[in-house]
Amino acid sequence: MANKTYITWHEHQISRAQREAMNGHKGCVIWFTGLSGSGKSTLANTLDHKLHERHLHSAVLDGDNVRHALNAAPDVLRDSHGDEFAQRFGLGFSAIDREENIRRIGAVAQLFSAAGIIALTAFISPYRKDRERVRRTMQPGEFIEIFVDTPIEICETRDPKGLYKMARAGKIRGFTGIDDPYEAPESPELVLSGGTKTPDVLAEEIVTYLETVGIVG
Ligand code: ADP
Repeated sequence: MANKTYITWHEHQISRAQREAMNGHKGCVIWFTGLSGSGKSTLANTLDHKLHERHLHSAVLDGDNVRHALNAAPDVLRDSHGDEFAQRFGLGFSAIDREENIRRIGAVAQLFSAAGIIALTAFISPYRKDRERVRRTMQPGEFIEIFVDTPIEICETRDPKGLYKMARAGKIRGFTGIDDPYEAPESPELVLSGGTKTPDVLAEEIVTYLETVGIVG
């Protein structure tokens, strides 16, 4: 191979177990998946508050922080970095761009988790294959996939950003659930009824799960 790179891993001085012992809980990735409007961000933030109140270390990765920085769109990068860079490294919403979006989020979430933090990710992540790839980068039990199972009719009624309306009007193409598929998980760690229960009740269900599997004491 012409462009083979020689990357070696540094010998880590502080183990994951030492970090987790200091934190008093394990690191993991709680991966919310579901349709736009299903309640992923609301749930991630509600859970983040509950964990914080209990002095547990957590962090949220969601569209608001990731799509503006790590995975910025080409038009966000163009002014500061120029055309070629923006085209090569900016991410839009095509299938391949969504795949790379999820790969990068997975890699960052895994670093958080290895640092002993409960990383909460809130992305539609519509393709099963992409989520499974992320799962394979983690240790057993580290990747907790939560399907926020809210019927599309309810998501569409909520429509806080008017996206479904625009997708129905043909103003947005490739919108998940309308003209792009959403592949529900086949065996997620948890399925939450996002259309019938409050975010507070659902976040409590997750806390109970984390206690059951020994992530938190
Ligand atoms: P997503 O991140 O999946 O796109 P959001 O968390 O932004 O969804 O939620 C979409 C809308 O639905 C918001 O207006 C939010 O307040 C509301 N919402 C979220 N979860 C629930 C719930 N369990 N019950 C009622 N409304 C909810």
